[in-house]
Amino acid sequence: MLDWLIDEVREFASQGTPTLAGLDEGAAAHAALALLADEGLLAWTVPERDGGADTGELCEADLVSVRALSRVRDELAYHSAMLDVMFVMQGLGSFPVALGGSEALRAELLPAVAKGELIAAFALTETGAGSNVAQVATNARRSETGWILNGSKTFISNAGLADFYTVLARTSGEIGDADGLSMFVVPSGVEGLRTENFEVMSPHPIGDLFFEDVEISEGNLLGEEGDGLTLAFGTLGRFRTSVAAAANGFARRALDESCDRLLEREQFGRPLATFQALRFDLAEMDTRLRAAQLLVEEAATSVDCGELSERSVARAKLYATETAGYICDRAVQHFGGLGVKRGSVVEHLYRDVRALRIYEGTSEIQKLIIAKDVLGGRR
Ligand SMILES: Cc1cc2nc3c(=O)[nH]c(=O)nc-3n(C[C@H](O)[C@H](O)[C@H](O)COP(=O)(O)OP(=O)(O)OC[C@H]3O[C@@H](n4cnc5c(N)ncnc54)[C@H](O)[C@@H]3O)c2cc1C
Repeated sequence: MLDWLIDEVREFASQGTPTLAGLDEGAAAHAALALLADEGLLAWTVPERDGGADTGELCEADLVSVRALSRVRDELAYHSAMLDVMFVMQGLGSFPVALGGSEALRAELLPAVAKGELIAAFALTETGAGSNVAQVATNARRSETGWILNGSKTFISNAGLADFYTVLARTSGEIGDADGLSMFVVPSGVEGLRTENFEVMSPHPIGDLFFEDVEISEGNLLGEEGDGLTLAFGTLGRFRTSVAAAANGFARRALDESCDRLLEREQFGRPLATFQALRFDLAEMDTRLRAAQLLVEEAATSVDCGELSERSVARAKLYATETAGYICDRAVQHFGGLGVKRGSVVEHLYRDVRALRIYEGTSEIQKLIIAKDVLGGRR
């Protein structure tokens, strides 16, 4: 299933990746988005009814297919972290609109997202609200014509690049009250919105957002007032599995790099691939990767089939991202000094894969989800 899509993405990514080399982060992000748009791949991040790809039998609900997203991300990540992040952010940033936007708002934004004409971003995290999003303090109060937002967000992918942000803000209750949160679309050009970028360890457009009396219209509220966490978790529930798939793509590349190096490099008069200790490593890497791929397949299929699958999604995210960390680390070890030399493939894979254990719910948060379900919600 979807083999034709994987072949298309493989060919596209292997040709597109070299054209991004040497560009600074902003230029690389724009170039990556343009490549993805030309290839028509961004359509997989938006529901068909809103201008996205035809998911046919893949997905029961009229929404994006997690299996398709996962296959695309696995292949993009194998070649380029930047192609991967620019692909998925279109979906993550715009999916709250697909879930809760009026028909007019969906028609205005989503077909353009699917073509790469508008860039989307998803803004939940704040300095005081990380793993616990109920701590969101950015507030939105009613005005005569809509809403006025004040506060700030941090670690927002596509900050400064995006044309609009889907923003979680408090419309009632105290900090910590999960029911008092709502979600809004905030256009980037609006008065009072400022962005500041910073760097993370792997190329990734990211930064802070500051809202100072930012006025938006009533129609920019997504869903009903108080629906914020339902929309945010509905979005994460659909995209989290694809983080695991991207981790598998990075890990698969690291394993391929290891194999090539161990076959080619000779020490003590023979290829490194003939030493049993290193062969055991390859076997361990391969087996763990396959287990991670199967967990992704299970989680993606269950979400596409409309099943309640929080536990299988959490298992996939936890295991695949942790495994990718292990595999990329072993690959660095197999390269010896070259493994840490700036610019080598395994050196950047080691950095590229690290943040996946943190964003869209840390490994510890995935464990809490799994344990709660294992205990049947009894504690
Ligand atoms: C590259 C990158 C891109 C990102 N992009 C976005 C984005 O586009 N939009 C967005 O909104 N956010 C984004 N984030 C933010 C990300 O979602 C948060 O960093 C993440 O949710 C963790 O929050 P925190 O950093 O505040 O860590 P904290 O919540 O402070 O956690 C710190 C540590 O404590 C652990 N911990 C916390 N609570 C518990 C608990 N109850 N039990 C056990 N351990 C616990 C965590 O697992 C973690 O190890 C991004 C982050 C990164 C690194």
